[in-house]
Amino acid sequence: MLNKFLPGEYVKSIYHISPFVLKEKGIKGIITDLDNTLVEWDRPNATPKLIEWLNEMKRHHIKITIVSNNNEERVRIFSDPLNIPFISKARKPMRAAFKKALFKMGLEREETVIIGDQLLTDIFGGNRMGFHTILVMPVANSDGFFTQFNRKIERRIMANFKRKGLIDWEDSH
Ligand SMILES: [Mg+2]
Repeated sequence: MLNKFLPGEYVKSIYHISPFVLKEKGIKGIITDLDNTLVEWDRPNATPKLIEWLNEMKRHHIKITIVSNNNEERVRIFSDPLNIPFISKARKPMRAAFKKALFKMGLEREETVIIGDQLLTDIFGGNRMGFHTILVMPVANSDGFFTQFNRKIERRIMANFKRKGLIDWEDSH
C-alpha cells in the first residue's frame, strides 16, 4: 500500500525535468499540479522562468494540462494567459480529473507523466492509475489551508521512505 505513495522519480524542481528525457521514456504529455509545483501556492501568475520551461515543452510537442484541486478562479487566472488547458477542483487523488485530462490530450496513461509536490494527491493519484509520476520539492515552505493537514501525513510517509533508503532528499519538507 505504502508503495503507491512512492514517486517514480523525484527531483528538486520542474526545471530538472527535460523534454529529452521524457521523450526517451515515450512520454508525450504532462499532467501537472499547480500550487507549489509550478509556482508558490500564493503566486497568481507564472514566472518568466516557468514560461520558458513551458515553451520548451511545447517546442518538443509535449502536451500539458494543469490539474489542480484549487478553485476555478485561481487556476483560470494562472492558466489562461499561458494558453494551457486546465481542470480545477480536481479532487485528486480521485481518478476522474486525470481521466478527463488524458482524454482531452488524446493520450494513453503510459504516455503521460503526473508531476506534483504532494504524495497524497499527485503521486498516489498517478501511481494507482499506472501513470509515470515525478515528485518535486514544494516551491514554497508554506501551504494553503487544506494542504497543511495532508503534509502531516506526508511527513510520516516520507520519513518511512527515508528510513528504507527509498528517498534521500537531504532537506525534507
Ligand atoms: Mg501542490
